[in-house]
Amino acid sequence: MIPGARAGGFAKSAILCALLLALTQVSAPASDMTSTLLIGGSKIDVTIESGEMKVSQAELIQWVKSAAEAVATYYGRYPVSHVRVQIIPVDGSGIRHGQTFGYEGGLIKIRVGAQTPAAELANDWMLTHEMVHLSFPSMADEHHWIEEGIAVYVEPIARIQAKQMNAEQMWADLVRDMPKGQPQTDDKGLDHTHTWGRTYWGGALFCFVADVEIRKQTHNKKGLQDALRGILAAGGDITHDWELSESLRIGDRSTGTTVLSDLYAKWKDRAVEVDLASMWKDLGIASQRKSVHMAEDAPLAAIRRGITEPTASKESSSQTILPSAVFTGRAVAGSRRAL
Ligand SMILES: [Zn+2]
Repeated sequence: MIPGARAGGFAKSAILCALLLALTQVSAPASDMTSTLLIGGSKIDVTIESGEMKVSQAELIQWVKSAAEAVATYYGRYPVSHVRVQIIPVDGSGIRHGQTFGYEGGLIKIRVGAQTPAAELANDWMLTHEMVHLSFPSMADEHHWIEEGIAVYVEPIARIQAKQMNAEQMWADLVRDMPKGQPQTDDKGLDHTHTWGRTYWGGALFCFVADVEIRKQTHNKKGLQDALRGILAAGGDITHDWELSESLRIGDRSTGTTVLSDLYAKWKDRAVEVDLASMWKDLGIASQRKSVHMAEDAPLAAIRRGITEPTASKESSSQTILPSAVFTGRAVAGSRRAL
């Protein structure tokens, strides 16, 4: 807890991500499989609930490991010392319905369709998104947009820094998706407009604008990543309930700016439209059908590169958290469930 933190129970509420689909359990459970991954000093207990699946348990474990490495690369360490990841087989194909809970150190539940091919695990964003949620304190309901916004914005950057994705793909996705975060008619600001677009993409837009502004003010020496690492270093993970304004002040302290607090003051109860066209132009990002062209002579090209490129210091810190994954599989009897 920090000064100003509330003793409420936000951490116990689930963060529901992506589409909530009506899913049924796969039948014929025999026993669940539990494995432990060690990353840095953190322990990730992975439970794979029983059920026929196209992918192997080793492939599922590799998927968890990749997501954990992406998040640990971005934050310089895994966000919590212990988390449980529960993989639930469901009918069909695809990875769906991730949920992250703040209790008992952290719990992630994620559904994997029985027909999901291994290639889809390799390209998955959802588990990384869920793990990013572990890295930020639990907020009151009206600030849910910052929790989702950080997860949406950080997830691809973390995967790029861990060399699991390329930056062109992320910028193409952001050019396509960021407009979904713009205020619509009757918008009353991020704290009072709880639509899907404003929660996920409005929050991501807040992070993006803040990242660029921090970099402008610090000659590209600091970014949102430093602010988020600062909040985590101060103890602000999902197991703690913090006030948003206090969290942002701690983030600002890490960058030597007041960008997060200032932006929040402007956006919390007002509809602020972002001139995205100008931002893309200044950053040197030009749309080309489904891809983008990067202009290296654009005024903010260095800032665009700074957002996704790990710096030397980031690389050296990531060295310490990478390769120590350990697999200790064991079958856990019971947990039988009906169709
Ligand atoms: Zn989420």
